[in-house]
Amino acid sequence: MNTLNTVIGCMSDYDPEALSVEQARHIIRECVAPVGGVQYVAVRTALDRVLASDLISPIDVPANDNSAMDGYAFNGSVLSGTAPRLEIVGAALAGRPYTGTVAAGQCVRIMTGALMPSGCDTVIPQELVQKDDAHVGFAPDAVRAGQHRRRAGEDLAAGKAALRAGKLLRPADLGLIASLGIVEVPVFRRVRVAFFSTGDELRSAGQALAPGCVYDSNRYTLFGMLHRMGADVLDLGVVRDDPVALEAAFRHACENADVVITSGGVSVGDADFTKPMMARLGEVAFWKVAIRPGRPLAFGRLTSAGHDALLFGLPGNPVAVMATFYVFVRDALLATMGAAAQPMPPMRARSASAITKRPGRTEFLRGIVSTGADGAVEVSITGAQGSGMLHSMSEANCFVVLPHAKGDVAAGDDVDILLFEGLI
Ligand code: AMP
Ligand code: MG
Repeated sequence: MNTLNTVIGCMSDYDPEALSVEQARHIIRECVAPVGGVQYVAVRTALDRVLASDLISPIDVPANDNSAMDGYAFNGSVLSGTAPRLEIVGAALAGRPYTGTVAAGQCVRIMTGALMPSGCDTVIPQELVQKDDAHVGFAPDAVRAGQHRRRAGEDLAAGKAALRAGKLLRPADLGLIASLGIVEVPVFRRVRVAFFSTGDELRSAGQALAPGCVYDSNRYTLFGMLHRMGADVLDLGVVRDDPVALEAAFRHACENADVVITSGGVSVGDADFTKPMMARLGEVAFWKVAIRPGRPLAFGRLTSAGHDALLFGLPGNPVAVMATFYVFVRDALLATMGAAAQPMPPMRARSASAITKRPGRTEFLRGIVSTGADGAVEVSITGAQGSGMLHSMSEANCFVVLPHAKGDVAAGDDVDILLFEGLI
């Protein structure tokens, strides 16, 4: 793992006062490493966890050749020009194999998943045959020799890696693990993330709201996003804009978590008084990133009482917190979790309206993607886009991402979108 100063030192164009989104992401990526620590957990518990080592299949899946269709199994050598007419000599059901041998000119009634009887390599689907009492007939070109048969090991071969280390385990993976007969898997321990909100104006739900105060919402959006990513969350509440209280909170967070996320207190005025305190705690850079919303951002590594932790100091505005989480924190967290996940590629959608955009910063607008009247994927912006308007996030189902160099968007232009669903 690289230190912040080493990474920054290698960049010829580093300017903390004007960092592009890509530069900030690059620095973050270079400074994060998996936290490690392996546990064996039951298959269901492994959901949303990261596989710690390759999972080698102990068996062939499927274990034997079996039928892919309901129909009749026979030997494909009879498919030679004339319409076959085969004698039905028995039945094979899933879990109840036909134990005899099937001769040329014979067939076995077979159901999907049933073991291919000895002597058979082909299945004719039942809807393609004419059946009378004890025989079936079908056109010679209705099926090819070997068709409608699943081969042993075609899904997974014994001894091969069924899943690779670093795989974030999703429902399909749980099924796949179960299909191998495996009951426990090695996963990395959860990443512990401590977070708190900063600001004298913040009140917690349940408290009275004095004039000029706002209820703290960031701890709730952060909780939701972190929980969805499978983090082990530690909510440290609201901390006043006071250097002593802040230093105590940072130390406590750093000593008890792998990653510390704060919101508020990184904008120009606030940063001035948090910077000296941060300098005592570790290596932290204060950036102005060319992004909207979310320009101010602090990033680095804290050390306290022999423990260290990655720090993300997010801006205070509620929408900025969510946008910067998606853009900067999510991938870093995946890396600390040991996940080999690639960043989500954007999709394209037609903009329903014109959007004013100044080149020189990446913008994340809140959008609602839907199917347009002509069936094309279309995105509309959710009205007012103030960075404090959490309502715009709640209403939206995607970000519309307008890249750094882009200018105005005309109605009907295609734009990049990032769907919220699946993003975390
Ligand atoms: P700051 O980055 O601390 O200057 O905060 C920017 C704006 O976000 C201010 O209007 C704050 O009141 C607001 N804000 C900061 N933290 C929170 C929070 N946890 N919940 C809701 N609003 C917040
Ligand atoms: Mg503040």
